[in-house]
Amino acid sequence: MSSNIIAIVGRPNVGKSTLFNRLIGQRKAIMDNVSGVTRDRSYGHGDWTGKYYTVIDTGGYVHGSEDIFESEINRQVELAMNEADVILFMVDVDAGLTGLDEEFANVLRRTDKPVYVVANKADTNARMHQMGEFYALGVGIDIYPISSQSGSGTGELLDEVVKHFKDEGVEDPDAGIPKIAVLGRPNVGKSSFVNLLLGEERNIVTDRAGTTRDAIHARYNAFGKEFIIVDTAGLRRKSKVSEDIEFYSVLRSVRALEDADVCIVILDATRGIEAQDVNIIALAEKNRKGIVILVNKWDLVEKDTHTTKQFEDEIYNRIAPISYVPIIFTSVVTKQRIHKAIEVAMEVYDNKTKKIPTSKLNDAMLPEIERYPPPAIKGKFVKIKYITQLPTHNPTFAFFCNLPQYVKESYVRYLENRMREHFGFTGVPIKLVFRKK
Ligand code: GDP
Ligand code: GDP
Repeated sequence: MSSNIIAIVGRPNVGKSTLFNRLIGQRKAIMDNVSGVTRDRSYGHGDWTGKYYTVIDTGGYVHGSEDIFESEINRQVELAMNEADVILFMVDVDAGLTGLDEEFANVLRRTDKPVYVVANKADTNARMHQMGEFYALGVGIDIYPISSQSGSGTGELLDEVVKHFKDEGVEDPDAGIPKIAVLGRPNVGKSSFVNLLLGEERNIVTDRAGTTRDAIHARYNAFGKEFIIVDTAGLRRKSKVSEDIEFYSVLRSVRALEDADVCIVILDATRGIEAQDVNIIALAEKNRKGIVILVNKWDLVEKDTHTTKQFEDEIYNRIAPISYVPIIFTSVVTKQRIHKAIEVAMEVYDNKTKKIPTSKLNDAMLPEIERYPPPAIKGKFVKIKYITQLPTHNPTFAFFCNLPQYVKESYVRYLENRMREHFGFTGVPIKLVFRKK
């Protein structure tokens, strides 16, 4: 259960994202040097005096334009009121009190959560004294002058904020929950797929009732499975960057991929597998992510008894030598096999995290090695003595032998195939390493 949540609210340009980055200690900050680009993440973790917390920059969820509407203020504040333990209401001492600040204050008055007014851009003493005018807002326990840019004042603010946290919190509240990235070329059905999942139970499980579906990186519960869809709010972007949408969408996919445990790669059945699809799958394998391929828009394909097999052959042919990836034929429109897709993604996650006991590995693999031993090279015989799974993040198996440098690639493939037959690592890249013993 995630707890100790800080939400930052306020009108555009007061410095919310600057403070957000500071509070998460730049640990996961994504700095886009192009102005006007909405950050990919508006959700991060940090710690202060031994307490872990999660920060949400609610401004990252709504349009970043200057003409911010009442409905957006409501949504931002609602998100904060639902999810947060402490709300930071940010204003700008340089710009002074504005009508928008007052509108925010009016909505914030409804909450019984602790609210602090954060008077940002108090870079100098003179500016710091201008914060007095914000008492007129009539909200908040107190006003804290800070400079998000230099960091001054943020320590005092955090000292106050963490007093509201009942416990130490956890470093990574998402640990153990599968993180899924939904990837694919434009128009294959990614957002339809995600929306269908979210619509299924309309249940965002961010540990609190009534959370809105805007939350990025939120936990979802569909078909009885809990998981995180990485980077859905990344789909929102500021209008200014339309020229670079293609570039940013690729960049975003790569980041989502790196963040995920399992990549669901969606293809368009009416177009078949294309070069860019192969690239995404190769990148996922290189990063040792779990992979599931969906051939979507299956409703649009005329089928006979061979069609499925033909599609599968074509895909495996193009992604060779990768052969372990499950392929599912889906239609988001008719909802065909959507449940199956999630089920398989969860299986792939289980495969990626499972540990095979050493005794089982040796009982299965030593006879295989005896049946077909490594071929001798220059009169030297490789003897594999035992096998063990290493305590690594991704499935890695050490084969201890006398002459590790003499194990040939073709023999590694043989071993990998036998490993997959015995232990079924469907959808997951596995690595075999050879160590001297
Ligand atoms: P947001 O729209 O509320 O997320 O605001 P940003 O974090 O994008 O900041 C808006 C502008 O204010 C940027 O140009 C920041 O560099 C600037 N800014 C943020 N914090 C400070 C500060 O403490 N002092 C000054 N002088 N400028 C700041
Ligand atoms: P994205 O760009 O990958 O997010 O793709 P979208 O989800 O926006 O879908 C692109 C178009 O394909 C939309 O018009 C969808 O209605 C349509 N679409 C998505 N999935 C299917 C499907 O399974 N069958 C059919 N016939 N159309 C689909």
